[in-house]
Amino acid sequence: MAMCPACNGLISSMRACDGCGQSLKIYGRIYDYQDDYSAYEEYDLTNETKSPTQENGCPHYVGCEACKSSYIYIFMES
Ligand SMILES: [Zn+2]
Ligand SMILES: [Zn+2]
Repeated sequence: MAMCPACNGLISSMRACDGCGQSLKIYGRIYDYQDDYSAYEEYDLTNETKSPTQENGCPHYVGCEACKSSYIYIFMES
């Protein structure tokens, strides 16, 4: 089915943090966190709860442990 590289464990880190340049960690799919948004309230989800273009991608949370930023990144499935 889906061949998301993050879900399949093919990658464990990705591009550098915009803030500090550390490697971002990949967390779970945003679907797995939808009952737990409160854990991410430092980061404004109000524009993103309507799911970023998911048609061909698998949205994951990614985060920087160094500066505690988190983002949503959509991994393209191939
Ligand atoms: Zn995925
Ligand atoms: Zn950072």
